[in-house]
Amino acid sequence: MGSRSVPFFNYPHVFVAHEEELMSVIQDVGRRGAYILQRDLEEFEQNLAQFTGAKHALGVANGTDALILALRVAGIGSGDEVIFASHTYVATAASVHFVGATPVPVDCRTDHLIDPESVKAAITPRTKAIMPTQLNGRACDMDSLQAIADEYNLLIIEDAAQGLGAQYKGKCAGTFGLAGTISFYPAKVLGCFGDGGAILTNDDTLYEDLYALRDHGRNSKGDVVGWGLNSRLDNLQAAILNFKLQRYDQEMVRRREIASIYQEHLADLQALLLPPAPGSEPDHFDVFQNYEIEAECRDELKADLREQGIGTLIQWGGKAVHQIDVLGLSASLPYTEKMFTRCLMLPMNTSLSDQDVEYVCEKIRRFYSKD
Ligand SMILES: *Cc1c(COP(=O)(O)O)cnc(C)c1O
Repeated sequence: MGSRSVPFFNYPHVFVAHEEELMSVIQDVGRRGAYILQRDLEEFEQNLAQFTGAKHALGVANGTDALILALRVAGIGSGDEVIFASHTYVATAASVHFVGATPVPVDCRTDHLIDPESVKAAITPRTKAIMPTQLNGRACDMDSLQAIADEYNLLIIEDAAQGLGAQYKGKCAGTFGLAGTISFYPAKVLGCFGDGGAILTNDDTLYEDLYALRDHGRNSKGDVVGWGLNSRLDNLQAAILNFKLQRYDQEMVRRREIASIYQEHLADLQALLLPPAPGSEPDHFDVFQNYEIEAECRDELKADLREQGIGTLIQWGGKAVHQIDVLGLSASLPYTEKMFTRCLMLPMNTSLSDQDVEYVCEKIRRFYSKD
């Protein structure tokens, strides 16, 4: 195989791959002058609810706002503790901080998702909620988390920013707890062309509260029923998301195909730990937002792949949330800390050809055969 360039993510591709159709979506919205809280947003919310099986879906400005609004309407605030996996985006913990509560980081397991044992060990009389991150397009062990939540009377609010379409026992990420949140950041599994987010919930009262909170406190009749903010999902972004959601099944299929190619070519390498293969566990349906491996000599591998034109990424800039000193969330989380010396994300997106993926595998195999 000759040399080629395999960028980690191809930002122009998400537009160019459907340029003509997207231009007509944008033109249609513009010609209708439909910018804020218009029919495209309503339709997208309905389609998203239907796709996930949630009773309600509400578009908001971004995935971080989604978390903050969800925590706020759930009544979480000053004096409360919220448990989250430290292997997550800093936004998960920041949302807890910004409602006045204390984020409590816990460990993850070999699939890189929250460890229920670690959750249990972190519970105090002040614990109010568990906020599991449905990381890398995979849902957590929700039965174990629900059992803990039931035992200790805790809420579950899911950070499903990376988990749209991922399932656990046939149920979609984002629909397990009181509320779940999604991000439509451009590089997410379902990305728009800017910022966007959504909140999923089956709770009618919570939905009404969120509906008003995201739009200056106004209810569906336009009456101000309380204090509110402006955290609306742009109608133009909603129109684009509607277009992409219609093709989302293919997106999931292709990501799982790519994961299968990695699995096929890399599974026998002792130096690597791969994510669970698609279809290998009956309880899980993973959508591979990321393909995050653990690798011996990770930094050398990353540099070597860079030289071969292959882009890789270490998630969150190489630190779990509790390792970001300025945030002051000190904890001792053995698996997470070891993992952050070893974790690496390989290219995973629908701009990749089978040959691109095979090229990445070939270069990884060559790296480990050197010594
Ligand atoms: C992307 C992401 C967020 C934040 O979403 P934004 O839309 O960028 O605000 C939160 N949590 C996780 C796990 C994410 O990956």
